[in-house]
Amino acid sequence: MEQKNTLTEPVKYDLSFAREIYSLENGYYIKQCMQCGMCAVACSTREIMDYSPRQLFNLIKLGKKEEVLSANTFWYCTSCCTCKARCPRGVPLVDVMHDLKKYAIEQGYDQYPQAAFYKAFWAEVAGRGKVFEGGVTARYYLIRGLDEVKKALAMKDVGMNMLKHKRLPLLPPKKVRGLGDLKKIIHKAQELQRKEARA
Ligand code: SF4
Ligand code: SF4
Repeated sequence: MEQKNTLTEPVKYDLSFAREIYSLENGYYIKQCMQCGMCAVACSTREIMDYSPRQLFNLIKLGKKEEVLSANTFWYCTSCCTCKARCPRGVPLVDVMHDLKKYAIEQGYDQYPQAAFYKAFWAEVAGRGKVFEGGVTARYYLIRGLDEVKKALAMKDVGMNMLKHKRLPLLPPKKVRGLGDLKKIIHKAQELQRKEARA
């Protein structure tokens, strides 16, 4: 049987995924990346990332949806801003990472614990107007399920110490003033974003 020479066959790229990422709020900047690698050497969590920011941007350009959205790269980004400050092309990497987190959740790639934390944090802020640590924690464990509750119980001493030193309030804070208005603003912003996405 005649064997295919994969080295001489043209590579097919699916650019629809790349176009979708470019259309995110800061996605357009990815096109400016010249693959210099400065972000990779500057990144404090690069060692535990599946791909460096540079590699991730290359995968986006190649249309590798599965690899990009399954990667832990943007979930392990700590928003330290080192890469953003050093990028010679002015790519706002932190903002791009935030966009990718949001996009990954919307696409159902929310398997990392960080995704559960983001969801819990956002639900708390949008619902209360400010963060109540107990609320974020409860929501996080509800999302993550029973196994994570067991892990939380293993850390009960840390929680007790925080309570003792008044670093973890037992009761939720008072409602913020103008919570209704804040909810209207969030609703409006989400509506605008949906419209933009459809356009
Ligand atoms: S530092 Fe900027 S230009 Fe260089 S690889 Fe990273 S994102 Fe691309
Ligand atoms: S902002 Fe994120 S990607 Fe950039 S250096 Fe810090 S951890 Fe790494």
